[in-house]
Amino acid sequence: MARIISFSNQKGGVGKTTTCVNLAAALALNGKRVLVVDFDAQCNASSALGEFQKTVEKSVYEVLCDDLPTKEAVREAEIKNLFYIPSSCDLAGAELELSQIVIGRESVLQGKLAEIENEYDYIFIDCPPSLGLLTVNALTASHGVIVPIQSEFYALEGLSQMLNTIKLVKKFLNKDLEIFGVVLTMFDSRSKLAKGVLEEVLNVFGDKVFQTKIPRNIRLAEAPSYGKPVALYDKKCAGATAYSALADEFCSKGL
Ligand code: ATP
Ligand code: MG
Repeated sequence: MARIISFSNQKGGVGKTTTCVNLAAALALNGKRVLVVDFDAQCNASSALGEFQKTVEKSVYEVLCDDLPTKEAVREAEIKNLFYIPSSCDLAGAELELSQIVIGRESVLQGKLAEIENEYDYIFIDCPPSLGLLTVNALTASHGVIVPIQSEFYALEGLSQMLNTIKLVKKFLNKDLEIFGVVLTMFDSRSKLAKGVLEEVLNVFGDKVFQTKIPRNIRLAEAPSYGKPVALYDKKCAGATAYSALADEFCSKGL
């Protein structure tokens, strides 16, 4: 059965999608079968994996709101063993649609992923930058959360709300939910600011913080515009090396 992991932080632009897609790609290159679920109406994970259209017919929206069999929305990515379910701009309306369900609105995604979870080692959910019903569905479906944090001023702002949401999901919806790790992204080891953020993050999360830091690397920002994970775009760049090291650390922690 797949380990299901949400990549979540309600702060925007911190590296959720970049981490979700590139860690998934690095694990797939190591022979793991990985499914990425794009759970954000911005469709960034979909485009990073090669689907640039935002109005596809069989997307996570149809899976969630029209009960499309989950396997019908799964696509093969360019890397062997890597699969994805694209998002669509329609997902923007899904929160409202879900909110009208009387019983079980928080567990719809969980039920839909149960249809296919035998087929993968990992299912990664790329969450939107909010703590609404979509994120609650992702957390309810997950065994763990990985929180990417950008190494900048205000990095920890809003984090207490995020931790509180995780606590509530754990209490009422998914008692086994755990924080699997915190990844520092866009990290500049020479900057005082980044060191300060690291210290603060270590104070809050201790050994949950991955030792591997993701440096700021232009190749990571360029790769999605070619519809590729960085490992295919420039496998020797610092960003690709970092995500490959993160995958090794992830596996060595037994995640
Ligand atoms: P959103 O909240 O909008 O979903 P996000 O948290 O998913 O954003 P990303 O989309 O992964 O964040 O990253 C934000 C921007 O920063 C993107 O343009 C991405 O290409 C770029 N980026 C992410 N990580 C790095 C990095 N390590 N080095 C350079 N650029 C990066
Ligand atoms: Mg994103």
